[in-house]
Amino acid sequence: MTREEMYQSIYTHDTIYIPPHEETSGPLEVALGCSWHRCAFCDFARDEFRLTPLEQVERSLQVLAALQPEQTRLFLLGENPFCMDTDRLLAIAALVRRHMPRVEALAMYARADDVLRKTDGELKALRAAGVRALHIGVESGCDPILLHCDKGVTAAQTVEALGRLDRAGIDYFVTVIPGLGGREWSRLNAVETARMLNRTHPKNIWCLKLHLYPGTPLYRDAQAGHFTQMEPWEVLAEERLMLTELSVTDCLFEDTTVLDQYTLRGMLPDQKGQLLTAMDLLLQASGAG
Ligand code: SF4
Repeated sequence: MTREEMYQSIYTHDTIYIPPHEETSGPLEVALGCSWHRCAFCDFARDEFRLTPLEQVERSLQVLAALQPEQTRLFLLGENPFCMDTDRLLAIAALVRRHMPRVEALAMYARADDVLRKTDGELKALRAAGVRALHIGVESGCDPILLHCDKGVTAAQTVEALGRLDRAGIDYFVTVIPGLGGREWSRLNAVETARMLNRTHPKNIWCLKLHLYPGTPLYRDAQAGHFTQMEPWEVLAEERLMLTELSVTDCLFEDTTVLDQYTLRGMLPDQKGQLLTAMDLLLQASGAG
């Protein structure tokens, strides 16, 4: 078998979704799809959810160990594998220790309610077993928007979940979606999202571009005139307002789709002024300033 064939043998799909900050982590398939699969904007919501049998996870680990013998960090694939019960996650961590003993850290996608379903003791046990980082799509801190999008968690629940991760010593990286409330709720989305994030300690806030995928409920809302998608400069203006209100510390703020063509990235709070200046220049250049 070639290396390419070995890689192909351990993944179900040709495309692997892994966050930018995990690009060097070894991807290990442990689940497919999302257990919630209801968010109105999400193109993944239609994917079937299933857990990978542990025997298959073990076989994949043996192949990954041969391909990446020096690997020290794994990213567990699936849209929210942290929904698994703690015993199953600990069993996967034990398999990792057996087959890839150099691995010190495990990371994966999670939903806030996946965290809330676990006790503090379970979170600490998972931390001790190697779970070091969760990537969580919090999307917005505005409850009407979360409700409209059928996110399934409130801003207060997100704050509670992230606080519990703080206490367990598990890092978290969050994504937000400026423009998710449309033009009508733009100001509220900016202010409430910043207010929610200010009560948390994310390592990274990544602003995602809202795509209206055909077939999703939000797309149908837009077609029916119940949702007004904002122009790129309006989204940037909303993001600027959110950034103005943010007081998080030791956090990398980034957006790789500013006005559909630029990347802005800076540490908060030290580079907040530079980020705001860059946003102002871009807004002026786009004719909005
Ligand atoms: S929780 Fe994430 S992956 Fe699941 S439906 Fe919502 S946005 Fe999509």
